[in-house]
Amino acid sequence: MPELPEVEVICRGLVPNLVGRTITAAIFSHQKMRLPLPAQQLSAWITGRKIKAVRRVAKFIVLDMDSSACLVVHLGMTGRLNFFPAGTAPAKHDHARWLLDNGLELRFHDTRRFGSIQVLAPGENPAEVFGELGPDPFRPEFNADYLAGQARGRALPVKNLLMDNRVVTGIGNIYASEILHVSGVNPATPAGHLSLQQWQKIVTNSRLILKAAIACGGTTISDYVNSRGEKGYFQTRLQVYGREGEACPICQKPIKKVRLGGRASYYCPGCQPEPDERKIVKKRR
Ligand SMILES: [Zn+2]
Repeated sequence: MPELPEVEVICRGLVPNLVGRTITAAIFSHQKMRLPLPAQQLSAWITGRKIKAVRRVAKFIVLDMDSSACLVVHLGMTGRLNFFPAGTAPAKHDHARWLLDNGLELRFHDTRRFGSIQVLAPGENPAEVFGELGPDPFRPEFNADYLAGQARGRALPVKNLLMDNRVVTGIGNIYASEILHVSGVNPATPAGHLSLQQWQKIVTNSRLILKAAIACGGTTISDYVNSRGEKGYFQTRLQVYGREGEACPICQKPIKKVRLGGRASYYCPGCQPEPDERKIVKKRR
């Protein structure tokens, strides 16, 4: 599943072929997707309109139209947005094809159909489309005080808190594991037990890791590719994710795997001591 860096890379790749272009026609497969296609809104606000900007909101790809409406695409698990020369035969899972005035078609391809296509109409409350979202990790509102406030009194493992879109958007399973490793925080630590100093490390490392991943074109674990069909290569720089039994690049101890909230979590027992062990270490000092 694409996380924040992959969606950011896709957005940036779409800009050159989309900004300033007009959508001249749209063709939909009418296969059932996670959300019903807003056919009326698409024809009222999107088709025949010019694209002013392409941007990322959380893990949504947003096309700002000159109608003041937004076309909002979520890639779900397997969604892709790619360009094809107009008139090229569509593939089986091409659910939407937007024809552009530059001779290209933007296609939304999604084999598992967990993705979605929505329209944010002018004046409509963004929460209707995006849901309740926490701050983006690159926003100043994402800071140690904010996180400590969100975590106060909560026994939820810190990794699950970081993966909650209502707390912070776009950090998924891969990057949560990496951020906590570099921050020296065990993923199972109850969120309410972290110090302000630890939250500060998590904030700083979130930005560093996500930025580095964007610069590498994202992480390609299974089938992620950008809008030009290219794979990311941040997977070669992952320090713990998917590396069970391998030596930690920092302390050489073997990486462990645990399940937290139903998701595989990777950590280094040397760099990220178990929450209880840390208390014992403190006592010894
Ligand atoms: Zn280590």
